[in-house]
Amino acid sequence: MPMITGEEYKRRIDAMQTEVWLDGKKVEGAISTHPAFKGVIQTQSELYDMQNERKESMTFLSDTTGERVGMSYLIPKTKTDLENRRKMIQQWASHSGGLMGRSPDYMNTVLASFAASIDILKGKPNCFPERLVQFYEYACQKDLSFTHTFVNPQSNRSKLAYLEEDVTNARIVKRMEEGLVIKGAKLLATQGGMTDEILVFSAPGAKENSHSYCFSIPSDTPGLKFICRESFVNEDSPLSSKFEEMDTIVIFDDVLVPWERVFLHDNICAANDLYIKGKFVPFTLHQIASRQVVKTEFILGVADQIVETINIGEYQHIQSKMSEIVKGLETLKALLQYSEAEAELDPSGVMVPARGPLYVAINQFQELYPRFTEIIQLLGASGLISIPKESNFSTQVGKEIDHYLMGAECRGKERVALFRMAWDLTMSSFGSRQTLYERFFFGDPVRISQTIYQFYDRTSSYKLVEDLVNRKS
Ligand SMILES: Cc1cc2nc3c(=O)[nH]c(=O)nc-3n(C[C@H](O)[C@H](O)[C@H](O)COP(=O)(O)OP(=O)(O)OC[C@H]3O[C@@H](n4cnc5c(N)ncnc54)[C@H](O)[C@@H]3O)c2cc1C
Repeated sequence: MPMITGEEYKRRIDAMQTEVWLDGKKVEGAISTHPAFKGVIQTQSELYDMQNERKESMTFLSDTTGERVGMSYLIPKTKTDLENRRKMIQQWASHSGGLMGRSPDYMNTVLASFAASIDILKGKPNCFPERLVQFYEYACQKDLSFTHTFVNPQSNRSKLAYLEEDVTNARIVKRMEEGLVIKGAKLLATQGGMTDEILVFSAPGAKENSHSYCFSIPSDTPGLKFICRESFVNEDSPLSSKFEEMDTIVIFDDVLVPWERVFLHDNICAANDLYIKGKFVPFTLHQIASRQVVKTEFILGVADQIVETINIGEYQHIQSKMSEIVKGLETLKALLQYSEAEAELDPSGVMVPARGPLYVAINQFQELYPRFTEIIQLLGASGLISIPKESNFSTQVGKEIDHYLMGAECRGKERVALFRMAWDLTMSSFGSRQTLYERFFFGDPVRISQTIYQFYDRTSSYKLVEDLVNRKS
């Protein structure tokens, strides 16, 4: 049975011997019961259950096995497939208000996009497209969950850094009969330690062959370590207690990657092409924009409730700030649907969303999201800090705070619950990390806007000007 339940997901993750380090200590025992992970693992398990409950809209019938597989693994062949993918992604996103950037659909989409790009690897040295397809089918059958890592550690970002000896980046150190041996580190893997597998590939720009690879291994492969940042879980906070996706540094201590899991190695050109020319970018951006639409709807809802609760909707600048969120939302929705309307069937029969509008959507969101969090702060003002924990309402001072913290038409307890959520969304360590995430997780906004500049087809604009300049009368 390809689709797993939430319980199966938890059982599988708990049974693994994944090496996860938090605050200098190794996480021992069932990770799904650990305070830093239990909330998000519970939420992730609810997503798997939802997929079982809504088979019609969240799964598809596999061509290879005839069995039902999660829709986020679907390689779309038609525009309707693309639309169905979007709707499925948005159902999952709605469960967390879009706050879980790495719900399983993110990486399922990445793997499906690689499997849909095998033409790029065919016939190239050290490339194994058939293994990639086999692995994709295996992942569909097992409903595997993934984390991933591709950026190298941030030790030296100078253009001349390549002149220095490489002492940090994960690289191939041996090519053996059993497989490749990897040593070094990668910058980050969100959800590291709470997935079945980790997909590892090299970001474009590798300068040495040993830095170019693409492979997937179980999270508990010997020698693989996930080092966590500090946990941002606060049991009393409505969002971090459920959606705090841990970020981890990934260390490869002579990790053996068996050949059947190596999709490419020692081929800089193929690694770059798989990332840049393959379907990774359009499909992943389509998943991201679908989630970000839901997240913006959630932000709008929180802002709207703040406005109503303290009755500030009559002020012109409040209306204008609310309109800013609405304009962002409508722009994102339009770009997303435009990418589907302009999707094209590629020679291998895959329906690929247009990448131009999607690149604009994500680059726009990197600026919009910090502004949205600022708007929530500007609307909420001191309300975002007058937020005693819920437990206070059942103490000796409970009656007083319920009275003195009342809203225009609600009791203090209700008002504080809303403002506490708004604080957790935009100001707590969880909320600040959300902002950093939206700014950077798919790449540096500066370089994404450079990419838009480099690839945007300006021929018709150029010609418009040329025609007018040369018009005689
Ligand atoms: C919360 C979070 C979660 C993440 N999760 C994952 C994950 O799960 N897996 C994963 O692989 N990655 C993940 N990332 C990493 C993400 O892909 C990177 O943060 C992103 O690509 C930017 O790289 P960097 O952080 O190394 O920034 P840098 O590249 O080090 O940039 C730092 C600063 O220097 C500037 N700069 C550096 N180089 C240049 C240049 N060549 N030209 C112009 N300006 C430059 C940048 O504009 C920026 O201002 C995550 C990031 C965050 C913040």
